[in-house]
Amino acid sequence: MSSHKVLERKDVPTEMTWDLEALYAAPGDWEKDFAAIHDLADKFMAFKGRLAESAAVLRAAIEAEDAMERLAEKVYTYAHLRSDEDTRHPENRSRVDRAQTLFAEISGKTAWFDPEIMAIPETRMTELLASPELAFYRRSLEELLRFRPHTLSEKEERILGLSSDVMGTAAKTFSVLNNADLRFPEITAENGKTIELTHGNYLKFLESADRTVRQAAFEAMYDTYAKLRNTFAVTLDGTVKKHVLAAKLRHYPSALEAALFPDNVPKKVYTELIRAVHDKLPALHKYIRLRAEILKLDKLDMYDLFTPLVPECKLEIPWEQAKNSVRAALMPLGGEYCATLDQAFDQRWVDVLENRGKRSGAYSSGCYDSYPYLLLNYHGTLNDVFTLAHELGHSLHSFYSHREQDYHYADYQIFVAEVASTTNELLLHDYLMKNTGDRKVQAYLLCHLLNELRGTIYRQTQFAEFELWMHQQAEKSVPLNADLLSRKYFDLNARYYGAGAAAGRRIELEWARIPHFYYNFYVYKYATGISAAVELSRHILSGEARKIRAYFSFLKAGDSKDVLDIMKDAGVDLSTPEPVHAALDLFNTTVDQLHCLLT
Ligand SMILES: [Zn+2]
Repeated sequence: MSSHKVLERKDVPTEMTWDLEALYAAPGDWEKDFAAIHDLADKFMAFKGRLAESAAVLRAAIEAEDAMERLAEKVYTYAHLRSDEDTRHPENRSRVDRAQTLFAEISGKTAWFDPEIMAIPETRMTELLASPELAFYRRSLEELLRFRPHTLSEKEERILGLSSDVMGTAAKTFSVLNNADLRFPEITAENGKTIELTHGNYLKFLESADRTVRQAAFEAMYDTYAKLRNTFAVTLDGTVKKHVLAAKLRHYPSALEAALFPDNVPKKVYTELIRAVHDKLPALHKYIRLRAEILKLDKLDMYDLFTPLVPECKLEIPWEQAKNSVRAALMPLGGEYCATLDQAFDQRWVDVLENRGKRSGAYSSGCYDSYPYLLLNYHGTLNDVFTLAHELGHSLHSFYSHREQDYHYADYQIFVAEVASTTNELLLHDYLMKNTGDRKVQAYLLCHLLNELRGTIYRQTQFAEFELWMHQQAEKSVPLNADLLSRKYFDLNARYYGAGAAAGRRIELEWARIPHFYYNFYVYKYATGISAAVELSRHILSGEARKIRAYFSFLKAGDSKDVLDIMKDAGVDLSTPEPVHAALDLFNTTVDQLHCLLT
């Protein structure tokens, strides 16, 4: 924005703030609901020990739990949004603390519910499920019962429950070592000043136009990890062993299948992703060569991957123009989508400007009984416009799922969570490319897209592949020591980046600093999500009504089906390599476009 002074909350114009009064007109109304949750909790608790009595009782119990959770979410949503407006505000802070405590109480109170359902004998459960009274809840009950073969006896579950804290020690050790105890050396920055390297400023150094600065940061980072390589190998080995043990105890064929089970995703989706990315590694190698050419280097090293190829466009895009661009970019989604966008702005779902004490960054957040609000810190950069399109993707996805689904099935899964947001970004990219004659802006847009596709598909798949290999070693009882981890990581990295990257040995230690390796087969979802988004954005841009209707079926699906079926209905089959191939073909043509523009 034109003025760079940070506003106080009270000085922000109302039309630039979100309308939380639509959720609770006054704090007193919030207090009433807060108090009402305790009554709803008592009603729910009255069903304890009674779930097998009849279909009517089981149904009433599910509805009592939903009623309690639904109101708790509303209460929590208001508290956290108010608090994020100005995190220094004592009244707001105490409200969010109370809501968090209430949430913890509720999850303690509901802990008996799933085990009691699972304990209903199979023949009795079959009778109950056949009852028309439970027809609506049948899917969610069957989802829960899928876990029955992987649920142990009460005694065994108790032992696992009691040991879960200590089983997390390896991951906790990593986190404390990595975040609290690890110290990095000082680096000489571009301005000649010495600055202590941190996790937070590492990327800034890697983005430096001065090669000696980024090389120094890279070397200092990995030389620090090298000193503690054996300790990091033990924390990672311990975590991988924990995943393998848990899978074995719960009768899963492998750690990978155990991790994919909750989403009902077959192993093939994971292995096909890796294979499909391998097929398209030549495009990444071409990108590496292009980077080297533009940066005038004989060979690129790993620390040359982040420095921008074109300077950031110093655009200042007023808020009205940002809204109009995003609206025009999303026009291919049709009149209904655009009408909902208008509603988002007219009803003030968006908190636009930065103010003192406001939470940083951007998000979309809400609940079944609120608008799907957006928090932004809009400063008018091109990146901010992409953020607006992204967060609107989340919010409209929530809006349609909430509108079309009953509360019970309204919230979509993490597996599909980034699809709508990324689709919007891709539509904005396409629109801006077509509507700007400025070659500098075009080059910037192409680089932006390449970074996103490289970081989300190639990089996350490289991680996913490494993760799979580590778990397979542990399943064969091969201990993961630092030498073995480094050797494998170096070879894998060489395969991904190809002969065009020089890669000194230091990169072999990257495994030591990636927190995602402690998440248990999570990162592949980033790669499948963006691949789906690329394919869907092509469908939308084709203008075919049938394909756009299919996309809306995804926006409206919530959690009413398995994630892969939702994507298939939308027009993307993630059990085949096609979506990943299509996404990386886009990467390939984008490299060519950038080549034409810059050389
Ligand atoms: Zn997102």
